[in-house]
Amino acid sequence: MAGPSGEHVPGRMNRDLGRAAETALSPPIFLSSVYRCDDPAQAAAMLSGESDGYVYQRDRHPNGDLLAAQICELHQADWAVVTGSGMAALSAAVLATVNAGQHVVVSSQLYGKSTHLLTQHAARVGIETSVVDTFDLAAVRESIRPSTRLIVVETLTNPVLRVAPLEELAELARHARVELLVDNTFASPVLCRPLQWQANLVMESLSKVMNGHSDVMLGALCGRGNRLAAMRDVVSSWGLACSPFDAWLGSRGLQTVSLRVERASQNALRIAKHLQQHAAVSRVEYPGLATHVDFNRTQRLFNRGENGDLLAGTMVAFELSDGDAATRFIRAGQEIPFCPSLGEVSTTLSHPASTSHRALSAAQRRELGIGDGMIRLSVGTESCERICELMDRMLVAT
Ligand SMILES: *Cc1c(COP(=O)(O)O)cnc(C)c1O
Repeated sequence: MAGPSGEHVPGRMNRDLGRAAETALSPPIFLSSVYRCDDPAQAAAMLSGESDGYVYQRDRHPNGDLLAAQICELHQADWAVVTGSGMAALSAAVLATVNAGQHVVVSSQLYGKSTHLLTQHAARVGIETSVVDTFDLAAVRESIRPSTRLIVVETLTNPVLRVAPLEELAELARHARVELLVDNTFASPVLCRPLQWQANLVMESLSKVMNGHSDVMLGALCGRGNRLAAMRDVVSSWGLACSPFDAWLGSRGLQTVSLRVERASQNALRIAKHLQQHAAVSRVEYPGLATHVDFNRTQRLFNRGENGDLLAGTMVAFELSDGDAATRFIRAGQEIPFCPSLGEVSTTLSHPASTSHRALSAAQRRELGIGDGMIRLSVGTESCERICELMDRMLVAT
């Protein structure tokens, strides 16, 4: 017997829903995997990208587009695509620009998983790579081949926080007719917008400081020019898209990214100076300190905050005497969580030798300036006095 089924009849509430979506101060979450089309011609036009509109979530969805618009504004980019993770954004960049048989120049100081993707997985599909010290411009120039398509660097490296020579690399890339891809995750567009320094492509892991609340995996890729349709095609075809709910959380996180990064950068500078005074600390790396090897470049490439102060970032690295001292330090202060990630609202710490850089040999780590006693702080937005107090207490234990 037929009765009320309770099923959702698409369109029944369309007028009210449409008005609600337009007037809601917090944007709605469009979880729909598919959208109704008016007729075959309209469906075909939307699916081929000839006309605007939503058909299938993997191709496009409103929450992804909203987040992409925020990224465009932050980076002053012409286009942006949002992906399911930072690694998906890197994959999209490579898949869109490099063919089998072509070549990529890879910075020797990339995020470990990025190096793994580019040197191991990309190699399996015929993409060749050279791992190069990208602070040595002559070495970069020498490594470029006729088949080179891409140079991949990070704005701020992990954990010693070198600042990439973006202007020189962009100039070199332009001459060689290759593209410069910059992973801006450690900096965020609050500190630096590599497109302004003529990078061709910029990627971000939104999972870190951009979202800022450790509850989302997302990535973004953006740039200048007329490449949106091609990039969307790569993201949709390789299945790299983000989910609407994650995109919604990411949009919310981005609303406070300037506030959070400015405050955390101010904290980081004060903490770095505080640590420099401490007898148990042999070395402090922070690009906002005049002692940092890239201090001048930081002043040139990085933005200033509302009060005019240089924003040199939220990350600080420092060195204790050895690995045992680092272990005692970490165990002494559970209030500062030991998590091998970064960009949280509150301060966290990591130990590169046992986490991000564990795959390297001790000699390779030494070459990059990473001792067993190195601690990397991801400074948060809490009171600076409180963080310094906790650090002092933990340092006594070393
Ligand atoms: C975390 C990170 C990535 C990868 O991002 P996911 O969102 O974790 O996939 C890439 N580059 C850098 C510098 C990172 O810190």
